[in-house]
Amino acid sequence: MKRPILTALAISAFGIAIPAHAQSTRPAAEQALAREIYKEFIEIQSGFTTGSTTPVARAAEARLLAAGFPASDIHVDGASPTKMNLVVRYHGTGARKPILLLAHTDVVEAKREDWSMDPFKLIEKDGYFYGRGTGDDKAQAAVWIANLIQYKKENFKPDRDLIVALTADEEGGGPFNGVDWLVKNHRDWIDADYALNEGGWGESVDGKKISNDLQVSEKWLMNVRLEVHNKGGHSSLPVDDNAIYHLAGALTRISQFKFPLKTNEVTAAYFKAMAKTESGATKTDLEQVAAGSQAAMQRVAKGSVQWNATLRTTCIPTMLEGGHALNALPQLAAATVNCRVLPEDGIEYVRSALQKAVADTAVAVTVIGTPLIGPASPLRADIMQAVSTVTSQQWPGVVTIPIMVMGGTDGRSLRAAGIPTYGMQGFFFDRDDIHFHGSDERMKVQSFYEGHAFLYDLVKRLSKATPTS
Ligand SMILES: [Zn+2]
Repeated sequence: MKRPILTALAISAFGIAIPAHAQSTRPAAEQALAREIYKEFIEIQSGFTTGSTTPVARAAEARLLAAGFPASDIHVDGASPTKMNLVVRYHGTGARKPILLLAHTDVVEAKREDWSMDPFKLIEKDGYFYGRGTGDDKAQAAVWIANLIQYKKENFKPDRDLIVALTADEEGGGPFNGVDWLVKNHRDWIDADYALNEGGWGESVDGKKISNDLQVSEKWLMNVRLEVHNKGGHSSLPVDDNAIYHLAGALTRISQFKFPLKTNEVTAAYFKAMAKTESGATKTDLEQVAAGSQAAMQRVAKGSVQWNATLRTTCIPTMLEGGHALNALPQLAAATVNCRVLPEDGIEYVRSALQKAVADTAVAVTVIGTPLIGPASPLRADIMQAVSTVTSQQWPGVVTIPIMVMGGTDGRSLRAAGIPTYGMQGFFFDRDDIHFHGSDERMKVQSFYEGHAFLYDLVKRLSKATPTS
């Protein structure tokens, strides 16, 4: 995933669940299986350009077949021979629609020389698992498979089918993206009431667990091109009507333009929860933001880049081009403006707001490509309750908080396809120790096993939960 995170430090917005005694980890044999699968996945190179997800899908398939899953319930297929996905269905009673358990098996490239160890070996050292994909996203992939095998061993009968999909090219995207490919070609394999995915994890500070974040919403991405054409001419005979001047003026006006500040269901719940962790003026401001006060939103947005990005759609220039010779008047000047859009805002709304801000008919403002708009997932009470309850059982005192993130995951594609998606892992990371996409990616050994147990309990509970919305 790509997730500039919203830090969450909060009290549950969904009521206090009663702490109960629960296992914080699964029995040793189950842990050993999860670790084995994790190791196997990590040691398969599945980088976007140099690797393949197919061997990961095949490894999972072999595990499932060995555990007695019928071949007819398993699909290995995809957009290209090196970009295969695995989909497996575990049958429930069928009383309710399935739950989709998603994880991507591709990883960001890792160069041996950038790391202090081999990135494609699972190395356990000083209480950490090291390796590319230890956090993003092979832990969740391994846990889904290990837990499914365990449910089968127990003869567990959920009220609904559980579908695990391990998919290709979340990091690279494009035509090989496994989720897009499945939605388009085999919707029936993955069709579900909702999906659980990466994108939300536990946050700790100096080893102390603070919150278990539930990602329910993502901003979506839209690139806009500003383009000015001009007849040009010799630079020795300049005129005021210059493409670069037009573009510079347009960008200056965009720098002064701000989209309106507002909250939505998710961010209002987020600010309400955050208020409980603050004191003084900030506490009051966050409470007022949650209640819809514009004045408070202005103060909060001004004080924090994160909160500003939470409260509004943002657009910022990222690339420039123009001119064709040192001694010629430019015939073209262009800029790319990158927008991160709130789920409820639309393409034409954003484009026309920029056009208006530019206020120059010489500057064409066009949308690049077709942005993929994913709506927010609803804050469903059955899901919120289950997550809150299992979180409190597993880690008494740790609160569940709904978040919207600025980055993106495959959840966007599923949400756009009408499958609400919730980012939830139960793997805890220290806030200052996120190595995803970087060198020496790692996860605490204890976090892996706790997440393993958390997801085991959570999926069981959800598979029996009564829908309340
Ligand atoms: Zn990821």
